Amino acid sequence: MQIKAAVLREYNAPLSVEEITIDSPRSNEVLVRTVGAGVCHSDLNNVQGLSGMPLNTVLGHEPAGIVEAIGSDVRSVKVGDHVVACTSLWCGFCRQCRAGHLHLCSQRETCERAPGDTPRLSKDGDALGQAASLACFAESMLVHERSVVPIDPEIPLDRAALLGCAVTTGAGAALNTASVTPGSSVVVFGAGGVGISVIQGARIAGAAMIIAIDISEKKLESAQHFGATHTIDASHPTIVKEIKRLTNGGADFAFDAVGRKEVAENCLYCLAPRGVATLVGAIFPVTTELEFRVGHFFVEKRVQGCYMGSNRFQRDAPKYLDLYKQGRLNLDDMISQRITLDQVNDAFTAMEGGDVTRSVIIFD
Ligand SMILES: [Zn+2]
Ligand SMILES: [Zn+2]
Repeated sequence: MQIKAAVLREYNAPLSVEEITIDSPRSNEVLVRTVGAGVCHSDLNNVQGLSGMPLNTVLGHEPAGIVEAIGSDVRSVKVGDHVVACTSLWCGFCRQCRAGHLHLCSQRETCERAPGDTPRLSKDGDALGQAASLACFAESMLVHERSVVPIDPEIPLDRAALLGCAVTTGAGAALNTASVTPGSSVVVFGAGGVGISVIQGARIAGAAMIIAIDISEKKLESAQHFGATHTIDASHPTIVKEIKRLTNGGADFAFDAVGRKEVAENCLYCLAPRGVATLVGAIFPVTTELEFRVGHFFVEKRVQGCYMGSNRFQRDAPKYLDLYKQGRLNLDDMISQRITLDQVNDAFTAMEGGDVTRSVIIFD
């Protein structure tokens, strides 16, 4: 089948929107018609060549859509189901899967087609890469059934798409990775799609104080709308001191939703004794070395990594949508603009401008 897709052909250049070929689903595969696809900061990192994403790859990893066809062995969804998808594929039998850490599966390639087999995506006979095993900047996606979760068809699919990355990563960082406690104080550096989701997760967990930090005044206003109780401009000259003043000695939880060395280090410095810093945003290059003054560890502060909000997507996605239906997770206002696939490159420009929470591509 021929579909329109946005392909990474060259770094630091616009994605190429072109006709490509998508194969039919086999065994455990599902063909999904894409309805909504969020544009994430990681997509921009891919375009900039920072993340090691190979060229000739169809990008996009935050989708929702409708099942069009299924392979013979698919049992978890049927044709017509509304689904949301996530990159966290899992094999079910590796050490991490057996321990319940599905998001850290070490053998996810067992859910892919073997190298040399007919590719899922191609152009004139040449295989194309499939970002995050999804490639949702395309009219259809051909994915493993464990990439998707069926959802209530009454939930608008543009809103549901946000679960694929931003909400799973951010709310999951607060609820799964850090286990924010009721009454605690929380600091969130960065108020984009992921930072806003951390703020919402902390609010849902019952944090008493949520301090948002960003360089954009508009994003700080938005942070308050989503549950931040205090805001600090990121250009504040003594940011750690200001956090310690507001929290009366340091925060219980801090999150780096930016992905920068200085921010990660400040996450530790702004904590109270026994506080936990969670590094959510990816720092590039991955060889970057963080430096911490060891005195902070004498008071039992901790720093921990976080990958995709420590998700179990099949468990988490329905839970987040229940919270959405109850009005406790605000997905409606996270969408700053709805665009077409042809406008995908404009979404990157808007992202670099700094005022957008999420742009979502809508397919007819
Ligand atoms: Zn993402
Ligand atoms: Zn596994």
